[in-house]
Amino acid sequence: MDLSRRSLLSSGEVLADLTAVGLNGRPSSTDSSSFVDVVVIGAGLSGLTATRELKRQGHRVRLLEAKDHIGGRMVNQRVAGNGVIDLGGQWGGKTHHRFRALTDELGLKRYPSYYDGKGIFLWNGKAHTTELFANFNRAIGFSNPDDIDLPISEKEAALKLWKELFDIASTISADQPWTSPNAEELDATPVSQWLAERRASPLAQWMFGWICRGGGAQVFEPYEASMLHLAWTLAVAPPQETPEEWLLFDGAGEVAKRLAAELGPDVLLNSPVATIAQNEDGVLIVYGDCQTVRAQAAVVAVPPVLRLNIQFDPPLPARFVQLMQRTPMPSKWKVLAVYPTAFWRQQGFCAAGSGNLSVLEQTADACPPSGQPGIIASFVSGNRVGTFSQLSDQRQRELILQDLVSLWGPQAAKPLELVIKRWTEDPWQTGGYGLTRSPGAWTAFGSCWQDAFGKVFWAGTEQSTRWPGYYEGAIEAGLVSARQATKVLT
Ligand SMILES: Cc1cc2nc3c(=O)[nH]c(=O)nc-3n(C[C@H](O)[C@H](O)[C@H](O)COP(=O)(O)OP(=O)(O)OC[C@H]3O[C@@H](n4cnc5c(N)ncnc54)[C@H](O)[C@@H]3O)c2cc1C
Repeated sequence: MDLSRRSLLSSGEVLADLTAVGLNGRPSSTDSSSFVDVVVIGAGLSGLTATRELKRQGHRVRLLEAKDHIGGRMVNQRVAGNGVIDLGGQWGGKTHHRFRALTDELGLKRYPSYYDGKGIFLWNGKAHTTELFANFNRAIGFSNPDDIDLPISEKEAALKLWKELFDIASTISADQPWTSPNAEELDATPVSQWLAERRASPLAQWMFGWICRGGGAQVFEPYEASMLHLAWTLAVAPPQETPEEWLLFDGAGEVAKRLAAELGPDVLLNSPVATIAQNEDGVLIVYGDCQTVRAQAAVVAVPPVLRLNIQFDPPLPARFVQLMQRTPMPSKWKVLAVYPTAFWRQQGFCAAGSGNLSVLEQTADACPPSGQPGIIASFVSGNRVGTFSQLSDQRQRELILQDLVSLWGPQAAKPLELVIKRWTEDPWQTGGYGLTRSPGAWTAFGSCWQDAFGKVFWAGTEQSTRWPGYYEGAIEAGLVSARQATKVLT
């Protein structure tokens, strides 16, 4: 497809076309573009959910996806040893009720995550074997502090700050965080500054860095977001509710595939949306190679900052644009090491590893219940991605394997397969997981975050007020947007 042709149809021409054909009825006989009730943009879980819901209500829907495959951040892949991996999200949580119900509806089988063993907390090169700790508010990473051989005073001081963080989170409003107690002050304070003011020890710095860079769904360096934003992420997606409780035998990516199969020809791939024009009659969408489709409403189910790649006519409100510019896609790579068998289980471990490793953030067991093949999931996160991405593939592989060996021993050095999914290098995602927001953004610009734009409604996991950044949030946002769009249909 010749992308340069997208710019040939100026927004003025688009609007002229929109006015000429009229939208308050069926297309005229001279109209070459097609007409549906709602156009949904982005075939991740959220867009797929919105499309399904609207179709269930009997509406005509077209789902436009930029890439040559559906799923967005929900993609599975077959690997050696007859295994399945997810390149994006893979876990479902204890209170991810909608996601659980969807997997039932689609006939997909779940199994519990494997936590029957010890973990390792690696600190300054020393491996501490630890019990996993159910009480997240008192854990160091996911380890029991009693098993970590560091001075009690240092651990207690770090846990005191940790408690303070969760106490703040308990006061944060899910849908209007800027109205929370001390919102202005919290939003003007980057997490790193808050820690420095409290003379946080290296252990406390690590704990906060770990939660900021991906211990939840959020990914940012502690200097990139405010205490208000961090506390909000914990309020809306509480790690105490075990977000990694179950997995799917076929991988989470199978959910997207089954939904797309259900939707059939209403999903168009290789169809990046370039322009959305609207007037009182409806919307006109320009996509792909200058194709157009008209509708009464549009649902945009792409991550916040990527919405700005679309030209809107009339333009988006300036405050909304400012907020989107302060909501970047963060840096996250997923690493999956596949072994013939889950050798760590035989040694009494569950592959939960964390600490101050050289490149990886944390590791987890991602195998089927049989442990065959053995799969360890891990991540390179935050600004580490910036320097790491400049190394050769060979060097990246060596450093990843070094970290895996320091946690799980020499057997970790020889995987059957080592898959690295570089989310920052996907032009239609530009990063993952999600939920980064600059200091001050919530209080200065945040009040417009749920505002629809005329006949354009927003979906995507980042739009949700419960489990944003997770599949659960993607489903919720998809359902809400479908409900909103339905209200403007005649
Ligand atoms: C490494 C990683 C691990 C994760 N782990 C978990 C987990 O274990 N559990 C969990 O619940 N969640 C997890 N997540 C998060 C989860 O994957 C996301 O919350 C969810 O998939 C987001 O779905 P979405 O539909 O909102 O957005 P996306 O999946 O990002 O979908 C957006 C779609 O829009 C398309 N698009 C963008 N621009 C345009 C355009 N102009 N025109 C047309 N299409 C466009 C994109 O190509 C994409 O397909 C993880 C994510 C990552 C990256």
